[in-house]
Amino acid sequence: MKIGCWKCGERMPAVAFLTNVDVDEDVESELCVLSDVVTLPKDVIDYVQKRVPTFQLKYSKTTQSKYYANTCPSCGVLSGDFFLHSEPGDPFFPTSEIEAAQLFLTEIPLSRPVCIEAGFHVGTGELILECAKRIA
Ligand SMILES: [Zn+2]
Repeated sequence: MKIGCWKCGERMPAVAFLTNVDVDEDVESELCVLSDVVTLPKDVIDYVQKRVPTFQLKYSKTTQSKYYANTCPSCGVLSGDFFLHSEPGDPFFPTSEIEAAQLFLTEIPLSRPVCIEAGFHVGTGELILECAKRIA
């Protein structure tokens, strides 16, 4: 989706991942939204960066760590995942069909399960899957 850069106000794309996660071997996999992504397989990075080159591995002062973050194409400042994921109503934490419909969804073609180091939250995935606009 497009958000406004908190620093300069420029409209910028923001990316998040929606995926099934095997949280625990004994539990069925859950539909999760990933945040604070630390590692990604190269083909996934390539797929995303081809479309959104401003999605980059960056050092965050907030978390004092590096993760794949959305950066502003104009001023280069990072829009932290904390502000995109944490509170109900945040861009990647929709609480209604209207909010979820602001999101765009594309499927990354992968032929295998991948290992990703990241945080995740559950509960909004179904809503996003149902309401987000599909793009190629
Ligand atoms: Zn900016």
